[in-house]
Formats: sequence, C-alpha cells, structure tokens
Amino acid sequence: MLALTNCKLIDGTGGPPLTAATVLVNAQGRIETVGRREAVTLPPDCQVIDITGQTLLPGLIDCHDHLTSFGYDLMGRWGRAEPRSTRALRVAQVMDETLLSGYTAIRDCGWLDIGYKQAVEQGLISGPRLQLATSPLSPIQGTQDRSSPSGHHQPASPDPNLPRGIADGVENVRAMVREVVRVGADFIKFFNTGFGRETQSGTTRSYTPEEANALVDEAHIHGKKVACHAIGGPGLRTAVEAGVDSIEHGCLLGLEPDLLKMMADRDIYLVPTFTVFTFHAVHGNPHAQAEAGEFRQQHIDTVQQALSAGVKVVAGTDAGGWEHGNNAKELELLVEAGMTRMQALVAATGWAAGCLGMEDRIGTIESGKLADLIVVDGDPLAGVALLQDKERIRLVMKEGQVYLDRISSG
Ligand SMILES: [Zn+2]
Repeated sequence: MLALTNCKLIDGTGGPPLTAATVLVNAQGRIETVGRREAVTLPPDCQVIDITGQTLLPGLIDCHDHLTSFGYDLMGRWGRAEPRSTRALRVAQVMDETLLSGYTAIRDCGWLDIGYKQAVEQGLISGPRLQLATSPLSPIQGTQDRSSPSGHHQPASPDPNLPRGIADGVENVRAMVREVVRVGADFIKFFNTGFGRETQSGTTRSYTPEEANALVDEAHIHGKKVACHAIGGPGLRTAVEAGVDSIEHGCLLGLEPDLLKMMADRDIYLVPTFTVFTFHAVHGNPHAQAEAGEFRQQHIDTVQQALSAGVKVVAGTDAGGWEHGNNAKELELLVEAGMTRMQALVAATGWAAGCLGMEDRIGTIESGKLADLIVVDGDPLAGVALLQDKERIRLVMKEGQVYLDRISSG
C-alpha cells in the first residue's frame, strides 16, 4: 500500500477541494481510500509520500489528440516524410513526454494504430492510457481524402496498419466502420464538415443524413462511440441529429439552440479544441487563418451557451497539428473562454473520462478507481497555467505505477 498524504485534493468531480487529504493506493493499482488525513488509518507496511503544500489531482485526459501527426504537410500525412521506424520512435517519444507532463489518458482522434497501444500495455514504451479512432472516415473530397493541389490522389494505403477511411454511400460507410473496428478502433471518428480548405469550409456537409445515420448505427452495433469533426452549418446538424456521442470543434454550435438542447438530452459531449485554433489563426494556410478568425468569437460564446444548455464541455487540444507535449494549454484557453478554473479541471478529468466512456475507471479520485494520479507544485485553482510548467509536475502515476517522481528525488 502507498499513501500520498498532507495534500490539497481536487478529485475531478467539481466538488470542493479537500485540504490535508490522504489517498491510499493498493497493490492492484487502484485507489483504496480517500479522505481527510485524520480519517484515514495507514496500514503498518504502508509507504508514505508526504506532499505537503502540493495538490493531488486525477491524471489529466486529452479528449482530442493526434499522437502520430507532425503538422499538416502532405508528405507526412502520406507517410512519406521519413522511414516508418523513425516515425514510430518519434511517436514513442511524444507519448512518453505527454505522460510525464501529467496526461495519463489520451483519446487519439486519428491515425494512431493499435500497435502503439499494445506497446504501452506490454510495457515496451511508456505512455498514456490510449483510446484510438485509428482511421477517421470521410467521403471522397472530405477531410480524410488528402489529394495534392495538382490532384494527385492519396496513396491507397498511407499506413498499411490502417484502413483508407474514405467511404461513400450507406453500404460502403457501414463496411468502412467494420474495417476500422477490425483494426482495433475503440471509437469511430468521422469528418462531417471541412475546415481551412478552399474546396471545403467549416460549414459544408460531408455525409448525407442517410450516410451519417448508417455510420452511427453501425458503430453503435459494435459498441463504439462516435466522435464527429463538425464546425457548423448542415454538417454539424446532420451529425447531432444522427446521434453521435461527441462533437469535435463545434465552433458555431451556439448558433443552434435546438442542437444544444438535443446534445444535453442525449449526453453528447462538446470538445471545442481551442488550442489548435490559436495556431490556425496565426500559422495556418490562408483559408484556415480566415476561418479561425471568423469563428473565434462565436467559438468562445459557444462554450458558455453549451454549459448553460447543460452540455458537457471537455478538454481536447487537437495536438499534432502544430505541437505536442503542451496539452494543458487547453485548460488555460477554456478559462479564457469563460469556464471557471474548477470547470476547466473537470473538463480534463471527470467529464473527460465520461467523453471516453471510462468514467467507471478513471477521471476522479474515488475508492475503487484506477490510481491515475498526478501531484503538482502549487494550486491549479489559483491559475491553471501552472499545469503547463513541466517542473511543477511532481509525480505522475498510472494505475498505481509511478512514471515520474520529483518528490523523492527532491
Ligand atoms: Zn483532430
């Protein structure tokens, strides 16, 4: 048994923090007991880590990452930028950095294959707990269809471990969902609007209602949740009406109160991914810059409108488009968009676990849950930006195993 004691505790539920708390972690990697220090009896053989003056939180969760992506360059996206072995090791390094920055779970929204997840589970590399989309779906000309400006088609198999993801028509969409399930997808991701492309803006619609309904139905038959990239307009409406489980980006969602109500009623999450838009606005191609600028204010307003309507807003960065390893930036941006600091912390813990469908195992510090825990130097309720300071991440534990310990090493 291991005890983390004398800390401030933010449990991920949004409830008031506990001061002078103790958490006991058992040998099975689960949380045994949580409580005020004086209420928790330490077993005789217990290893005790005193974390006075520091804060204990659930391991952070990023609901929208792309661990295998390094920018939007077509050669990289076609798997031609460097040897596959080099790329695999680069991804492993990013996964390690991401874990050590306090992120114990990542929902990867595209192009990470199951081998990485197996490597983490088998202890070949260290990384966060992973939930994978593998190949996202879109129709021809949609976001998954990456042709060159001169019309060169995406190679049939940019990554031999992944299905192509491009599917048109109800039957082909169902078949592609089955292919994606076959390669180990934990959830299904599809693009139903574009963004930042001359031929496909954020307010277009990729799939017809019939195709989107079939996609969601097929995914749910296999017990998989569905995440949909949708910025606004008819593509967004079609996705929500089809009954997806989360809307990714959703910048213009606040303009459609009936969709917000539908999302609240059906427990559909919103993952606004502000981080990626801060980069698009400055470094994106001309179309991405223009759209990021155009959507910005409504994107911020959408968060408040969603929360007022009862929609759960969760933290996701869309990392991989521009940078890796600073996933906590999203919390700062959620606060700038009007969330309280506590809401932003819940968006990256308790609610985020719900978005992943893992709320029974992770996301909050409660007895019986997996011991995915972090200790930070200082109080994130006084400013969430401190979570971006790697030196202030003092301890990272995943399922009871310690991956980073700056406390014992002083
Ligand atoms: Zn993405």
